[in-house]
Amino acid sequence: MHARPEPIGARDITIHDAFWDRYMRLVPEKMLPYQWQALNDLVPDAEPSHCIENLRIAAGEAQGHFHGFVFQDTDIAKWLEAAAYTLAWRPDPALEALADQAIELIGRAQEPDGYLDTYFTIEAPKSKFRNLRYGHELYTAGHMTEAAVAYYQVTGKRRFLDIMCRTADLICRVFRTEEFQAAYPGHEEIELALIRLYAVTGKRDYLDMAREFVDRRGVDPDYFAHEAAHPDWIPFFGQSREEPVDTKYHQCHLPVREQTAAEGHAVRAVYLLAAMADLAWEYRDESLAGACQRLYENITQRRMYITGGIGSSGVMERFTADFDLPNDAAYAESCASIGLAMFCRRMAQNTRDGRYADTMERALMNTVTAGVALTGDAFFYVNPLAVWPDNCLEDTSMAHVKPVRQKWFGCACCPPNIARTFASLGQYAVMTAPEGIWLDLFFSGRFTAKLGGQTVEIECDTGFPFEGRLTLRVHASSPAAGTIALRLPAYAQGPSVLRNGADAAPRLEKGYLYLDGPWQEDTIQYSFAMPARFVWADPRLRADVGRAAVMKGPLVYCLEQIDNGEDLAALSVDVSAGLSERYDPDLLGGTVLIRARGRRLTAPAEGPLYRDAPPAETPAELTFVPYCFWGNRGPGEMQVWTRTCS
Ligand SMILES: [Zn+2]
Repeated sequence: MHARPEPIGARDITIHDAFWDRYMRLVPEKMLPYQWQALNDLVPDAEPSHCIENLRIAAGEAQGHFHGFVFQDTDIAKWLEAAAYTLAWRPDPALEALADQAIELIGRAQEPDGYLDTYFTIEAPKSKFRNLRYGHELYTAGHMTEAAVAYYQVTGKRRFLDIMCRTADLICRVFRTEEFQAAYPGHEEIELALIRLYAVTGKRDYLDMAREFVDRRGVDPDYFAHEAAHPDWIPFFGQSREEPVDTKYHQCHLPVREQTAAEGHAVRAVYLLAAMADLAWEYRDESLAGACQRLYENITQRRMYITGGIGSSGVMERFTADFDLPNDAAYAESCASIGLAMFCRRMAQNTRDGRYADTMERALMNTVTAGVALTGDAFFYVNPLAVWPDNCLEDTSMAHVKPVRQKWFGCACCPPNIARTFASLGQYAVMTAPEGIWLDLFFSGRFTAKLGGQTVEIECDTGFPFEGRLTLRVHASSPAAGTIALRLPAYAQGPSVLRNGADAAPRLEKGYLYLDGPWQEDTIQYSFAMPARFVWADPRLRADVGRAAVMKGPLVYCLEQIDNGEDLAALSVDVSAGLSERYDPDLLGGTVLIRARGRRLTAPAEGPLYRDAPPAETPAELTFVPYCFWGNRGPGEMQVWTRTCS
């Protein structure tokens, strides 16, 4: 059996790219400093985080009560994970010193037995692990563990890793006692974190514990009801002891191998799936692999927005029913698309099938990028596909939709999650195995990898995503055997691969173009067409019936009020006419604009709401910009799906 390709190491890749730079540079320049201020409650006019203060109180270095959400510790965890990855490609002694300081504080906040969670340490020590449904201790431990693994991988420092191994050891002990042997977390995350901890420590117990958590889920669907009967159970989020458990919300309605549709809270679901994909590989578990496959198909064929957003309901941030993907009321949390990318990354590793990387790219290049302003200091939690700012009112069903990005959130899961994702973009871009390299994202930059036992360095140059052109320059000191695989995305037309100027005649296999070694000093020129195109949805997707979207390559485009005037709903696009493209170097950091012909419905400014005759129509020219850049030019309407005419 082949080895599984693994994501390239954080220190082995540098991305310097016209598209990705505008996001990646934000991490060290804006997001980490800004978020550090936020975690320390130093951002005026933003909701206080209290995250660092909670750690100080837990460490006995300050007095007071815990404030914030019960999972507030995860904000510093994700900040540390983002800082770790950033140090890999932009060394910064001051940032590293700050991170070391935070890690020491975490160490002091840890209890002697390894327990780490400031809420329970400060407020409810008797209730540890008593409310797994909503207490989020294992979720928090998971994020801390992921951060510790990243920090160790990049800096080589063991301090944080040792702290989290103590916590993991405690979890492995507690959750095998008779009392907790059927227990599993209400919010998945610890599973994938324990797998990552196993990968760096080699301690099999962590991997086994992750599998036990996954295998227990849904076997006793009433676990959360049983736990609520314990005298030390305490409620969160307005729970009552008798409250029925919404098992689908927690993905425990059925054992995971029997689940056929992605259900419940979307972030929970995809974090679980990421762990399931890893476990399917580690244990060569066909039934688990089958479940991953089935749930992937359900998400991508029935429950995913064109932008790679998932979890369409503003109530409980959850999956609903097949084809229920409302545009204006969408939830589509940034974190959920990050989790989808994490799941797809692992599926691509397991199967070497490029279509998973297509979905990963869709989520990353549309929803995750849209989650942050181009200035790096404002964020979307919710990512709608149509916005009319006037109806995004508090105390209505649209209250969750914010028409402009926010500075910070009381529940600030998304901003630091976006930061850690951009900082670790390399791991989504390239995967490697002893016999091959797979290029999944197209970027400018360079990376080094082992290929056929040799170290090869590859320089990449591209105008992607606005041009379908990529040049790879391979350097190796002696000939390296093995394959280089270029992803052939579903949107790429007429691919051409030249090797040292001659047709490379690559072999197409499951969405990748394979080129065989040996490699030494070689140049690969890969190109394909990806003209702007219309896309239609399955007619069962009610919200998009009679509408089309515009895409170019992986990028979904949208209309904005600033380019098209108000009342975007009154516009229709002529799908029988062509789309024209123009690169504007000065707009939104440099972007291709797409223009189309269409019509606008008009009505007299004064007059009755309802009439016996249709509104008049006038010709209109429509301008589309990439969805990921929307909302960067002041508030206004936005719309992805436009009514069609011909
Ligand atoms: Zn989030």
